[in-house]
Amino acid sequence: MSNKNCESCMMPLAKDPKMSGSDKYCSYCFRDGKLVYQGNDVNEFKKHSYEAMTAKGMNPLKAKFFTWMIGFAPRWKK
Ligand SMILES: [Zn+2]
Repeated sequence: MSNKNCESCMMPLAKDPKMSGSDKYCSYCFRDGKLVYQGNDVNEFKKHSYEAMTAKGMNPLKAKFFTWMIGFAPRWKK
């Protein structure tokens, strides 16, 4: 069991419902051997993530919090 967080979206990898095949990224960020979002615009990524979370029925405040957390992920550090 890993206690690491996804380096792209900060989701705890232990909570990942599927195996992504990567020890750095979750199955939402990393699929079929590559990053789902290939760009490097964190704000665009946040927008996609927020929409994906609320589309799954997540509480908007909770989704907002997780979206805010993305800004601290290693992938977006300059
Ligand atoms: Zn992720």
